Amino acid sequence: MAQEPHRQTDLADCRGGAFLKSSPDLETPDLQFTFAPGIVINHGKTMRPGHGMSIHVALLKPRSRGAVKLASADPGAAPLIDPQYLTHADDIRRMIAGVKRAREIFRSAEFDRIRGKELHSADAGSDEDWQARIRSRADTLYHPVGTCRMGNGKDRFDVVGADLKVYGVEGLRVADASVMPEIVSANTNAGSMMIGWKAADLIMGS
Ligand SMILES: Cc1cc2nc3c(=O)[nH]c(=O)nc-3n(C[C@H](O)[C@H](O)[C@H](O)COP(=O)(O)OP(=O)(O)OC[C@H]3O[C@@H](n4cnc5c(N)ncnc54)[C@H](O)[C@@H]3O)c2cc1C
Repeated sequence: MAQEPHRQTDLADCRGGAFLKSSPDLETPDLQFTFAPGIVINHGKTMRPGHGMSIHVALLKPRSRGAVKLASADPGAAPLIDPQYLTHADDIRRMIAGVKRAREIFRSAEFDRIRGKELHSADAGSDEDWQARIRSRADTLYHPVGTCRMGNGKDRFDVVGADLKVYGVEGLRVADASVMPEIVSANTNAGSMMIGWKAADLIMGS
């Protein structure tokens, strides 16, 4: 959600963030807000001169599931990646709750002094309308995980065990974000580093 005025920016210019629940009965937050003092469109790649402010609404714990498949038997060939974003009905429902909450925040009295016109959603109305707008504007936050997920080996999709060793392959460990059984409720870099440190400890036997 973007509002005038302030300057062009991207999310790396984040000046504030929040974790929220799309519904009060949830145990943990399922939405992450990133506030930037500028107009963020297409990660800042689409320039729109002028001042503005933005709240980026990210869905934590998405229920949609993508797929990574081999394109051919050539190990050098790029894989076929289909993220299948927003294919689960719960995900779009929670995103709609998120953008409505972001709009409420921008419409609160605290922003009266600096608020300009709402750029992409001023006339948004029904949930169907919000859904169409989200589907046309949503992008990724670059946090893919779980393609090599950790599990107890009982499920056919379990790739590594708690020791990070690949089931059925001798002498091979995986130590990166791909082993996360499901995505963390946050950005993924810190968790990836912790997995790396844990792998080093396991290999050193400490
Ligand atoms: C644009 C962008 C912005 C992001 N911003 C944030 C952020 O602000 N905060 C945050 O927490 N997370 C952020 N992330 C996510 C974070 O970077 C990843 O979750 C994290 O880097 C995952 O670590 P990894 O070790 O699993 O994979 P990577 O960091 O991708 O490491 C994989 C490594 O494997 C190497 N490699 C690949 N193929 C081969 C091969 N065949 N042989 C040898 N080496 C190979 C690559 O060169 C790379 O060094 C961002 C990601 C992107 C893309």
